[in-house]
Amino acid sequence: MSQLTLRMITRLTRLASNHRPARHQLFSTSARRPLMSTTGFTETQLTVREAVAQVCSEFPNTYWQEHDQNEQDPKEFHAAMAKDGWLGIALPESLGGSGLGISEATMMMQTIAESGAGMAGAQSIHANVYATQPLAKFGSTAQLESTIPKIISGQWRVCFGVTEPNAGLDTLRLSTRATKQSDGSYKVTGQKIWITCAQVASKMILLARTTPLEEVRKPSEGLSLFCIDLDRSSPGLELRRIKKMGGRAVDANEVFFDNYSVGADSLIGEEGQGFKIILHGMNAERCLLAGEALGLGYAALGKAATYARERNVFKRPIGQNQGIAHPLAEVYMKLEAAKLATYHAAQLYDSSKTDKTIRQDAVGVACNSAKYLAAEAAFSACERAVLTHGGMGYAVEYDVERYFRECLVPRIAPVSREMILNYISEKILDLPRSY
Ligand SMILES: Cc1cc2nc3c(=O)[nH]c(=O)nc-3n(C[C@H](O)[C@H](O)[C@H](O)COP(=O)(O)OP(=O)(O)OC[C@H]3O[C@@H](n4cnc5c(N)ncnc54)[C@H](O)[C@@H]3O)c2cc1C
Repeated sequence: MSQLTLRMITRLTRLASNHRPARHQLFSTSARRPLMSTTGFTETQLTVREAVAQVCSEFPNTYWQEHDQNEQDPKEFHAAMAKDGWLGIALPESLGGSGLGISEATMMMQTIAESGAGMAGAQSIHANVYATQPLAKFGSTAQLESTIPKIISGQWRVCFGVTEPNAGLDTLRLSTRATKQSDGSYKVTGQKIWITCAQVASKMILLARTTPLEEVRKPSEGLSLFCIDLDRSSPGLELRRIKKMGGRAVDANEVFFDNYSVGADSLIGEEGQGFKIILHGMNAERCLLAGEALGLGYAALGKAATYARERNVFKRPIGQNQGIAHPLAEVYMKLEAAKLATYHAAQLYDSSKTDKTIRQDAVGVACNSAKYLAAEAAFSACERAVLTHGGMGYAVEYDVERYFRECLVPRIAPVSREMILNYISEKILDLPRSY
């Protein structure tokens, strides 16, 4: 049995002896009972949900409000998740992980967001769970042994460096260069943007060009993936924090490299194969993001339904007005539909590892669709939650303004809604490529 499962069971046993609250009580932001239907989930997924919710219950909404307002890293939350082994949920058992799938990791990310931690809570650990996937699959034994256990234990945090100001969604046009030196090391020069948690990370999974665009046959060639040290005391590395709309507890950064030295041993897999390597994890990331969006959406809907029951205007609960109730009912159905799409995609992704009859393009369509649908459902839920609260929807104390600020992230990142629509138009409808 995996380490994590053992730890989960140990924890669950301890919780039971401590008069563990009923499952629904773990979701402080939800209504009287959990809104999401849990029918159809596996026992492992439900165990993950319950155990992660228990960790999250130690971090109330006020914790996330304060950290958002003060732009303060939720390091205690990251440490608590690491302490119980959750950062290794989808990493191999041989490296200290639990070897569970993306179906369980998605449930974990959903549960975090749903607890009231929102996107900030999810993003504080997201890259540790996701960006480590290509490393675990393509890294050398020495690389894995020296990094993965430290990431799982929480000693090192990870960030993911792909986006560039001059390339945007056209990732293949990225221009950060890693130039090989005579001793095998590399010098990195270029700029990344929007890099989450770079201020607190010890490592960055970096995508950079090792062969100039003009010298490759296809733009997807000549890119390489690295797991580099973020050594702020070394020359050639500068971080600038970006002031942002939501998820302010986690930092987002511009990262400038100017002949920054990285060791030969930081290259993941073969030089020039970085894009193929990174593609490996992209579908998984779509599922995790979809889960995060769902969690945020259910949290917002729970808040809205509670307020609609409790707030009396014109001598009756506002939820008695269909103008309030119907949009919330509609949001519920949107979230449930997106949930089915999300866990179907995650299950397809996991099964495709062993079932070779599942085509990778089918996995891609399912994962992209899930991310799109979950992001849109979350947006509807968060918008409705603010409107249901009237003026109080604007008050920090009620949390829904925080959720609303955060719910735009799954619509934009890691791939925008427009690019998913482009992808479906082209791959499913056979329409001409528009870009
Ligand atoms: C909070 C946050 C955290 C992030 N964290 C990270 C991180 O940790 N690491 C990282 O590498 N990146 C990160 N990102 C970056 C994110 O992945 C990008 O913002 C996203 O991929 C969009 O790229 P862009 O901002 O350059 O948009 P652009 O490429 O400039 O696009 C702008 C707009 O134009 C649209 N558009 C562009 N081309 C087309 C087209 N052909 N057809 C239709 N519409 C088009 C897009 O859909 C979008 O609406 C983060 C972003 C945010 C907001």
